[in-house]
Amino acid sequence: MRPTAVLALDASDGRLDELPRHLSDAGFDVWLVPNLYHVAEACELWRDLASLEGGAVFLLPLHPRPIEALLRRHGAWRTECLAVDSRTREAPAPLAAELSRRLGSPSGAGSIQRRDASAGARWYPLVDESRCTHCGSCFQFCLFGVYEMDERKKVRIVHPDRCKPGCPACSRICPQGALIFALYDKDPAIAGAPGRFPKPDAAARKMYYARTGLPCPRCGQAGKPAPQPGAPACDECGRPRVAAKRDRDELDALLDGLERLQEGPR
Ligand code: SF4
Ligand code: SF4
Repeated sequence: MRPTAVLALDASDGRLDELPRHLSDAGFDVWLVPNLYHVAEACELWRDLASLEGGAVFLLPLHPRPIEALLRRHGAWRTECLAVDSRTREAPAPLAAELSRRLGSPSGAGSIQRRDASAGARWYPLVDESRCTHCGSCFQFCLFGVYEMDERKKVRIVHPDRCKPGCPACSRICPQGALIFALYDKDPAIAGAPGRFPKPDAAARKMYYARTGLPCPRCGQAGKPAPQPGAPACDECGRPRVAAKRDRDELDALLDGLERLQEGPR
């Protein structure tokens, strides 16, 4: 069985003009598609991609992690798949030969076909399933219903197109660096660059606790206390520490008194 090369053609990138022919000569059946990130959720192309058999390589102008996350989201990723950033500087002929070697293409040229799809400019997060622990922070943080927590307590993206274009806010509060905004060119870590881990942003984490009122794992406080300018604050949630410290001091004094009573007069 011939492997399939699914290639997003980018009219602005002349380097890709020769790639379909080289992939075909290297034994691939080639599908020319729009950038899959922009393909509509309900498009039939997703069903066709999910029903592919044998090896497949996806060449899109994205980092490999978001390519895999995107294909997984649509049930079209299998162990025999490869993800390649088509913005690579590698020349078409050696790239096609290397992919052919890795996927074991048979000899002889494969076909080339264009696969139309309904596509428009889109912006939404992708979840790297290898990192996500389903903690629910993104679901609790997002005000626009992009995420859902299902009955098995798994976070899913259910309304991607409700996401606000250009904004990667929830990627900054994910404790695992699992959220990818594939088109965010200001920060390669958020765009899913290989080996990069977006650090949770301290200000965004504080905004998360302020918005949700959820308990802080570091200081134990919950709710939305009134700000206390100048008071020491928890590094994680930003809530003032004064009340919690005073409560702890009072509790300690009470326990000390109890111990003295139990020991009796000396
Ligand atoms: S915040 Fe990150 S780790 Fe938590 S559920 Fe969302 S993607 Fe997964
Ligand atoms: S960037 Fe904003 S709107 Fe988009 S999913 Fe994250 S929190 Fe929701």
